[in-house]
Amino acid sequence: MNSKIRFKEIAERLKKFENEQEAESLSYWLLEDIGKISKMDVLVEKEVILSAVEEELLNEAIERLKKHEPIQHILGKVEFYNRQFLVNKNVLIPRQETEELVDLILKDHPDLADEVVVDIGTGSGIIPITIAKERPGVKIYGLDISIAALATAKRNAELNRAKVNFLNIDILEESPELPPAEIWVSNPPYVLESEKMAMEEKVKEYDPAQALFVHDNDPLVFYKRIAYLAKQNLKYGAYLYFEINEKFGEEVKLVMELHGFKELAVIKDMQGKNRFVVGINQ
Ligand code: GLN
Repeated sequence: MNSKIRFKEIAERLKKFENEQEAESLSYWLLEDIGKISKMDVLVEKEVILSAVEEELLNEAIERLKKHEPIQHILGKVEFYNRQFLVNKNVLIPRQETEELVDLILKDHPDLADEVVVDIGTGSGIIPITIAKERPGVKIYGLDISIAALATAKRNAELNRAKVNFLNIDILEESPELPPAEIWVSNPPYVLESEKMAMEEKVKEYDPAQALFVHDNDPLVFYKRIAYLAKQNLKYGAYLYFEINEKFGEEVKLVMELHGFKELAVIKDMQGKNRFVVGINQ
C-alpha cells in the first residue's frame, strides 16, 4: 500500500526534538533520499507518495534522529564539493569549513598538473579525492592513522573514480616516505578535550574522537609535527595549508614561522572565525 506523506507532517514530527530550521532541512533531506524526489519537487508538490517500505524507512530514520544519530550516518552518505561520499562512524562527517579549505587550495592553484599533493589525516578522503577530481593529473596522497578510515576513503575514491594513494601511518611516531611536494594540507584533530562538554550530542556520540580531540596540555601537537615533516618534504616555494581551531590562529602561525615558513596568513571561514593558516616554504 502506498501512502501520501506531506512534508509538513514530517517536519512537525521532527520539531518535537529539533529546532524549526533543522527540522525543516532534515525533512527535505529525508524526503529527497527516501522518496527519491528532488527538493524542488518537495517544494512544489508538498506531498510525496511513499511505498510501505519507504514509509518504514522514514519512520526508522526519524527514530534514529531522535537518538541524536546524524542524518549523514543514517543515510550513509554526504555531499562534499558536489560529489557523493560514504560516511560512517569511522570517519568525521565533512564540515562546511573543510569545503572552504579545499576551495581555498583550488583557487590558489588553478593550474596544478602533475604536482604532488599530500593530505595528512585524510579521514573519509574528501580532501584528496576532491583535489584529484578537480585537478586531474596531480599525484595525490592521503595519510591516516586509522585503517578503518582508510577503508572508507578507498571506497570513496572508487565511487568517485579518483586516483589517490592512501597510506596508513601514525605521523606522530613515523616519518612518511613521500616524493617532494607542492602542497601539504591537513585538517588534524584540534578540538580541546575541555571544549567537548559544549559540543552537540551527535558530534560527541557519533564522530570518531580520534579525529577531533587533542589534550589541553598540548593542543598544537599535530601542527608542530606536521610543520616539521612538511618542511622536509615540500619543494622550495611550496605551500602548507592547515585547518585550525579558531582560538589558535596566531599560535599556529608562530609554529609555522619557527619551522621556516614564510608569507604566513591566518584566513577566516565564512562565519568570520579564524579557520585556516597557510604558509610558503622559502
Ligand atoms: N571543525 C570540527 C568540529 O568543530 C573539528 C575538526 C577537527 O578537529 N579537525 O567539529
